[in-house]
Amino acid sequence: MNKKNESIRGMHDYLPNEIMIWNHVENLLKKILFSYCYREIRLPVLEHTKLFNNTIGNNTDIFEKEMYSFQDRKNNQLTLRPEGTVGCARASIQHNLLINKEQRLWYLGPMFRYERPQRGRYRQFYQMGAEAFGFKGPDIELELILLTASFWKKLGIDKYLILELNSIGSIHIRNQYKKDLLKFLQINESFLDHASKCRLHTNPFRILDSKVESTQVLLKKGPQLSNYIDENSAFHFKKLCCFMSDLEIIYTINNNLIRGLDYYNDTVFEWKTNKLGSQNTICAGGRYDQLIETLGGPNIPAVGFAIGMERLILLIKEVSSFTMLYFIDIYILVFNDSFKLSSIKLSEFIRHKFPTLKIMINFHGGNITQQFRLANKHNARVALLLGPEEQKKESILIKNLINRKQKIVLKTQLIEELSFLL
Ligand code: ATP
Ligand code: MG
Repeated sequence: MNKKNESIRGMHDYLPNEIMIWNHVENLLKKILFSYCYREIRLPVLEHTKLFNNTIGNNTDIFEKEMYSFQDRKNNQLTLRPEGTVGCARASIQHNLLINKEQRLWYLGPMFRYERPQRGRYRQFYQMGAEAFGFKGPDIELELILLTASFWKKLGIDKYLILELNSIGSIHIRNQYKKDLLKFLQINESFLDHASKCRLHTNPFRILDSKVESTQVLLKKGPQLSNYIDENSAFHFKKLCCFMSDLEIIYTINNNLIRGLDYYNDTVFEWKTNKLGSQNTICAGGRYDQLIETLGGPNIPAVGFAIGMERLILLIKEVSSFTMLYFIDIYILVFNDSFKLSSIKLSEFIRHKFPTLKIMINFHGGNITQQFRLANKHNARVALLLGPEEQKKESILIKNLINRKQKIVLKTQLIEELSFLL
């Protein structure tokens, strides 16, 4: 194809076979979200750029270099959302969802960041996120962690994920710490790796995230955020840790876990894997008690998380064997043109009885061997044939395409025979 007509770098098409896995995963996650009484919210992908000023932070990587911003025809400054929390908070304020009410919400959709594309890092990527507005915690943090833990269990990937927790204290305390950290790092600038040196002048806080060993060694000698945390924050975090231990949730405290957005305070957490190289965080979240007020809403606390869907799917593909998802449950062979109508009637009859089964009829003709081959090619679970022999005996041929066994059953028994497909 002419290169000019290909999709934009870092923005991918998800083809039907891939979408089958996505749908499967999304459905599982949605069921769990509903079971915790989280309700879906759908938000625009475009927002006013100013919404992201002073919320995600003017010195963060996202704000400084990752946002897709442009002017529309009326010179409005707009941005393709780089994350979902700010838009979710904006919508909740705008529609008065937060007046004397708590809210448990979730969303799913594409986010946009101008990053260097690589495995697990794209310019358009999907996040599923949940936000709980109006809860002081730490009980709600526990609930969110339990909710995410049940995602992994249900998907069969729980043993490949570890939970890291930290408390980053109040925004006020953190600013004090940032100043001291900056002083320390400026004095020791020559010991920093190249990327960290650049961050020194933009977002020194993110240096804590550095994966370079020598930088980590240096950081250990500098001021420690845990020493700055005030009593309230320490109590909040201790209580959460006690809850976690009581419920036997395994976690580690990572004092360097700080998150890339400015609006967080107190609890932050990440679910990480060692199966995906350096793009190892699948799900990240935390508390952001000031955000809603900053956006002009009431002074209410909030906490949430977001899952990187591409990374989640990559992990599932990496570690689980369930790559074979059957798109078609029943493939109906058509003996010849004169059997087309009776085959369609048969398909309608089964659909009526089992509305969730996926049924396809072969409209392309061909001999029976060719049609069985097509059924296999389509990855169907069962093939049905209604030919002259069967019609005479008021019966149908059923072939199980997984174990290759076939039998002829009376039409009256067909529904019962197919019930194993449910
Ligand atoms: P990272 O440190 O990997 O850049 P982040 O701190 O920028 O992550 P968040 O803003 O917290 O990420 O987003 C939550 C999750 O969304 C991440 O943990 C990750 O799974 C996913 N995510 C973030 N950026 C991307 C991206 N460019 N491509 C794919 N997934 C992403
Ligand atoms: Mg990032």
